[in-house]
Amino acid sequence: MSTLSVLPYFPFRLVRIIKQTVSTDSDILKLTAVPDQGFSPKCHVCGSKTQRIHSQEKRSIRDLDICSTRVWINCSYRKIVCMPCNRIVVEDLEFFEPYSRVTRRL
Ligand SMILES: [Zn+2]
Repeated sequence: MSTLSVLPYFPFRLVRIIKQTVSTDSDILKLTAVPDQGFSPKCHVCGSKTQRIHSQEKRSIRDLDICSTRVWINCSYRKIVCMPCNRIVVEDLEFFEPYSRVTRRL
């Protein structure tokens, strides 16, 4: 088990990486990310902040490879009640689009 941290490669300010698992035989790095509780969730449509959380979801998102290792981020995110939009929306964590399975930088 390597103790090398890959965290400098993941400068996403609204989430925290809480776990990293390297599977050396298959060259896959799996990260687990959760929203940083220090930030209020914000609507991905209008940018409004809210504390009204509707539900929690998870999604696996493909990120940039590190050398020959494929990187997947298992990210928790929240669905929030946005009053200006008058609907339930996915929060904006800034590094992936709400319905995408890859990161913005990929
Ligand atoms: Zn909104």
